[in-house]
Amino acid sequence: MQTLSTPIKAAITELTATQYEPFYLYDLDRLAKHLKAINDQSIVKLWYAVKANPLSSIIKTIDKAGFDFDVASSGELKQVLAQGIDAKRVLNTGPAKSKRQIEEFLSLGVTTFVAESINQVSWLQEAAHRHGTHLRILLRVQLRWPNNEKNPLGGDSLTPFGLGTQAWSTLCLSDYPNLDFAGLHIFQWGNLLDADKLASLWQQMVTPLVALSKQLNMTLRILDLGGGLGIPYDSEQTPIDWQAILTSLAQFKAEANIDELWMELGRYAVGECGFYANPVIEQKQNYGTNQLIMAGGINHLLRPAVTDQAFPASCLRDSQADTVSFSLHGPLCTALDSLGEHQLPTDINEDDWLIFSQCGAYGFTESMPYFLCHALPAEYIYQAGQVQCVRSSMTPQEYLR
Ligand SMILES: *Cc1c(COP(=O)(O)O)cnc(C)c1O
Repeated sequence: MQTLSTPIKAAITELTATQYEPFYLYDLDRLAKHLKAINDQSIVKLWYAVKANPLSSIIKTIDKAGFDFDVASSGELKQVLAQGIDAKRVLNTGPAKSKRQIEEFLSLGVTTFVAESINQVSWLQEAAHRHGTHLRILLRVQLRWPNNEKNPLGGDSLTPFGLGTQAWSTLCLSDYPNLDFAGLHIFQWGNLLDADKLASLWQQMVTPLVALSKQLNMTLRILDLGGGLGIPYDSEQTPIDWQAILTSLAQFKAEANIDELWMELGRYAVGECGFYANPVIEQKQNYGTNQLIMAGGINHLLRPAVTDQAFPASCLRDSQADTVSFSLHGPLCTALDSLGEHQLPTDINEDDWLIFSQCGAYGFTESMPYFLCHALPAEYIYQAGQVQCVRSSMTPQEYLR
């Protein structure tokens, strides 16, 4: 479980002396160390799923650690290119690739795509032909298990991500001379912490994926397993065992006879480097429940409302008081605006700040910042002992028209 290190606590405390609005802070030293540890291997090529956190300085830190970049929109692509990253190091996934977007990606030099439909394959071929170029393509596969109980992906709901093996098997690869079909992409789960569970998922995918590649007459050179590696959000959970993951990936790679395994990590790459500092507005008791009303809520940190899973929270001030359970609420006029139940000191009050951790992934850009006209949170970085503001807070007067 992530704890607030002494320098980060000091940096946040110093910032709160002059700040009145909630803000984010990312520990880039910690991020760099973590990325180095997970990328120091030759079993799986790592990409960064930019949607987890598209902040410029996060992207630059990830670039230095040798990751390439998975983007799902034109906005993400331009943000990555603006950091000086070569378009050849970009992979484009996502079910909504219009002809217009494909054209734009080719014009900007992107050559690697995950195709999620037959139309996408045709449109990529047309665009590649027009540009007189060749593209590297992975087909995104969506697997279903006949027996619901045995479905390792937890549920059998249909998603727009990719196509089933049946639908892909009708594709005739030689109809697309400008496309190099290099492999398959599969990603259908989220936030898993159990290395054994992940290993068993990968294990069960070998047979259908190898069968599909044979049907298509495609050499399965690359297999992209997406993301889905979890991080702990409460004290009972333990971090994923990365060495165990590498061991099962190596096994899997050998068994399926694949040249390259890829993963695009979001949460596992950046989640633990981020903190959200949030002023307490007041404490009150309501029908026997301890409530804390916070300056920021799901307008800055939407994820708890979507997943029903809170980010860990602690009081910035050291308090000797006993702890009790508090319900945390944000400033929006909807009961959805809850940041969870937390054990916090009884003497917590309107001068305090709470620090939410594990907020480096799926934080601000996943949120709904305009509702009720609050200020947008600033984003700070901590690097080599220095705090720097990357994006200032913005008042409603600055963003409303
Ligand atoms: C979101 C996403 C990821 C990253 O997922 P995490 O669970 O955050 O690692 C990877 N690949 C694709 C295609 C995604 O959409």
